Amino acid sequence: MLRLRALLATLLVLSLVPACAPVSGRGEEGSDGELGYSETDDGLALTAGSVEEAMRTRCSTASVRGLALQLVGELNAMRPGRMERIDGIDNVDLNSAVIPYLQAPAAQALRRAAARRGSSTMTINSALRTLPQQYLLYSWYASGRCGIGLAARPGRSNHETGTAIDIDGYSSWRSALQSESYRWFGSSDSVHFDFVGSGTESLSSLSVLAFQRLWNRNHPTDRLSEDGSYGPQTEARLRMAPAAGFAIGPEGDAPAADDPAASTTSIGVSWSRGASGAYAISATAPASVVRVEYWVDGRNRISTVQRAASDTFATSYTFSSAVTERLFEARGFDASGAQIARGIGLIDTVSGTAVFIRQTGAAEYEIGLERAPTGVASIEVDADAFALTDATSGAARSSRLAVRSRFTLLGERQFSIRTYNADGTLRGTLRRTFTLE
Ligand SMILES: [Zn+2]
Repeated sequence: MLRLRALLATLLVLSLVPACAPVSGRGEEGSDGELGYSETDDGLALTAGSVEEAMRTRCSTASVRGLALQLVGELNAMRPGRMERIDGIDNVDLNSAVIPYLQAPAAQALRRAAARRGSSTMTINSALRTLPQQYLLYSWYASGRCGIGLAARPGRSNHETGTAIDIDGYSSWRSALQSESYRWFGSSDSVHFDFVGSGTESLSSLSVLAFQRLWNRNHPTDRLSEDGSYGPQTEARLRMAPAAGFAIGPEGDAPAADDPAASTTSIGVSWSRGASGAYAISATAPASVVRVEYWVDGRNRISTVQRAASDTFATSYTFSSAVTERLFEARGFDASGAQIARGIGLIDTVSGTAVFIRQTGAAEYEIGLERAPTGVASIEVDADAFALTDATSGAARSSRLAVRSRFTLLGERQFSIRTYNADGTLRGTLRRTFTLE
């Protein structure tokens, strides 16, 4: 069966790869469209939620975003400081599927290129790609699905090394980008620019290694050799990997915490980062809660506070690594030791500009910025392109740099935070994905 499947797959690829692929005008990441079928072409059962299922039924790399973000975390753990975020750059807008990182010299050159054209806005459709994203794009390209004009094999794209971008309107940006050491790929992939300046390193084998390490941490009895090369063994595991991410994430090796199914009431959470880098953390919990545990990424318990010690369950913690988009959790327990309450948030544990999302009550959250750059006078926040109004100030554009809102519909949301100058001009947009509970 496996041999037949491999043969069929080979025939499929050989018969469908175009000799000279037309270029997709909308960029390699494609749209968020779903094709609406889920049968496999060989009749084999698919693992629900796997990368392979995403490959067969979806047309956006956003379908593997959870896994992709874990791989970025693993990459950042192996090469601290090598990657730099590219959201929040003035006049640069990111498609929601974009993983907002490039190698630091490429990110800085992008910032300079964007500044060269005054108030024009550059839209980026692809930047750093992790292994499952490249696997999807190449598979779609090779099978003629999803309108992918051109995509390299996994392990061979400059996107995986964090030195390439795909943009809209390439002709108007070409000169500014070339002045900052970005080379236009040419008409066969006209949306694509490679950073060819100094100071970068090839990360292609490291991006494969990141997946191998993450897989092994979650499958101690089915280990891949950690050789950084993309072979059949690694590809087979990649296809089985969960699109939403592994139970054990990129940092540490503690098992994932159990789902707090018993939580019934809400805890309001808050934090602020002091000059020393230590976070002052607190929570507002119902009277029956006698103990609060603070967790990060669902697996690291960073502090336990008894009510006797502090009514606000105040504590302090210093994070050892700079990571964005982390899950923050306060778990409340009663006197019998049962978990009865929970509050969640998104925390960026970085020294620079940080996005926060904090639960403030039942289905109520506050979204905002900490340490915003000088000159940012106000923000607007969208959840899945739906504009929120700040319940505290009543304003849609909030000068307190935070927007509090109650949500009638819970679940995963894409948040866009637009920053504005005092004269009302748009500066940039930050994006985060978060699941409201
Ligand atoms: Zn590209």
